[in-house]
Amino acid sequence: MTGKTAARGTPYFKVRRSRVHGRGAFALRRIRKGTRVTEYLGEHVSHQEADRRYEDRDERDNHTFLFILDARTVIDAGVGGNDARYMNHCCDPNCEAVIEGKRVFIEAIRTIEPGEELNYDYQLGRSPDDPPDVDDIYACRCGAANCRGTMLWPAKRKPARPAPAAVRAGAKSKRAPAKKKRTERAGAAKSAPRRAVRKTQRTRTAAR
Ligand SMILES: [Zn+2]
Repeated sequence: MTGKTAARGTPYFKVRRSRVHGRGAFALRRIRKGTRVTEYLGEHVSHQEADRRYEDRDERDNHTFLFILDARTVIDAGVGGNDARYMNHCCDPNCEAVIEGKRVFIEAIRTIEPGEELNYDYQLGRSPDDPPDVDDIYACRCGAANCRGTMLWPAKRKPARPAPAAVRAGAKSKRAPAKKKRTERAGAAKSAPRRAVRKTQRTRTAAR
């Protein structure tokens, strides 16, 4: 029972408790590199609306169902979301998020064996009003050899855009679409051209 044909009809993954963080998505069958595993579904809202929805959440709550589509739009998987929202972050992920038009897809970047947890690099953005211990709040326990210790990107707060060295030190995933954390303000999102650049690059790659 190998390959896509024999396994057709079997879902790629199921959600269950994860040792890494809350619940996670686990492969039910072999998933080949390049497979589009799922779409990240949810309501498309403005950054302002996303902030309004989650402004009452505890600052220490590191769960996020928000995904930054671009400087204007956030996908809120808390409304109309699917199981993609349970995929955990990993610094050495087996999947990546890909933006196509106004949609986000999760694709395998290597072959994944049954039982493996599916994950991707959240690349949560940093903003000026982050609490000083934001890296502790969003601490990563993915266990990867190159774990940077935080779900945030870049690994360390930097005044300027991340240097190539930071990219080398971090996950090897491309500067892909990013999840949005609760404390990330709309203003901060607007003042982060880096995100728009990333999106442009990614869209081009995804269009191949
Ligand atoms: Zn990690």
